Amino acid sequence: MTRIARFTCSNAAADAVQAQCSCCGYDDPIFAPEAIAPEAFARRDLFKRAGGLAGAAALASPLVAHAQTPQLAQAQSPVREIVQIAGNVYRFRNNFHFSVFAVTPAGVVATDPINADAATWLKNELRTRFNQSVRYLVYSHDHPDHINGGEVFADTATVVAHARARDKIRDERRRTAPVNIAFSEALTLELGGTVVDLEYVGRNHSDNSLVVRFPAARTLFAVDFIPVESVAFRDLHEGYVEEWFDSLKRVEAMDFDLLAPGHGPMGTKAHVRQFREYLETIRDGVLAGMRAGRSLEEIRPGIDLQKYANWAGYAQMRDLNIDGMHRYYTLFSRRSG
Ligand SMILES: [Zn+2]
Ligand SMILES: [Zn+2]
Repeated sequence: MTRIARFTCSNAAADAVQAQCSCCGYDDPIFAPEAIAPEAFARRDLFKRAGGLAGAAALASPLVAHAQTPQLAQAQSPVREIVQIAGNVYRFRNNFHFSVFAVTPAGVVATDPINADAATWLKNELRTRFNQSVRYLVYSHDHPDHINGGEVFADTATVVAHARARDKIRDERRRTAPVNIAFSEALTLELGGTVVDLEYVGRNHSDNSLVVRFPAARTLFAVDFIPVESVAFRDLHEGYVEEWFDSLKRVEAMDFDLLAPGHGPMGTKAHVRQFREYLETIRDGVLAGMRAGRSLEEIRPGIDLQKYANWAGYAQMRDLNIDGMHRYYTLFSRRSG
């Protein structure tokens, strides 16, 4: 049913294929910004840097982006660009992965390096465009396809992450810079007059995902657990479903306007609520069906998700999302029953 390639989430996979490790699955072209919001994407042209002809074509045409498979994209020059989001906060793209950074007079606060090649490109751009180097490097969570390559910034940067991410990176000898400062709940960084609030909002897509908030730019960076106008990936295999809802509510309660996800187009605070409501609709439908003694086959068509039909991945993953929720609550009721 789905054409999504599956990779194991390992250093080898991430390194070998330009960090296209499908830890989250959102590195597929169907979730690319130009596929989800082509109008917005076509309008915006700031600081664009496309890596060669193939990259330029992918940027210009959502159809091209759609037609590429992850394997093809890997074989071509990577699409890389830097776009100003608000104030001194910028978004960095490497193919289907994104991170953000803030430029201050005292240096740069950067987030996920993505991989060594991408980080090397970014390091050079920061030097030539802003005459700055990275002072803080924040890992969004421990998945290699987002945080490989941290060693590129290690000569100037202090690396920050959640304590569980630090432990995994150390214990599994991940191919990135080790974490220097770890925390469990919240940490505020200040560099050159810019404040950056880091907060752990509970388990969701991983057990160590942070949100990175830039209060002055009213921008929040969150990776893999709040897609913008996209369904969840496949059958929620990695997720802590029950806690995911709480996580989203905690983000909704934060003060920000712009949402910068780790994949796909930019969004707003409203997209957090929309994604929570999508998951809740599935949860409520699954639970009602289970209580009524209906089978999964009977439950699937009975859940009305039509208002999300234009979201990325809907055709491919609607049923898988329902299956994942059903599996989760079947196990959950066994555990608690
Ligand atoms: Zn992830
Ligand atoms: Zn991801």
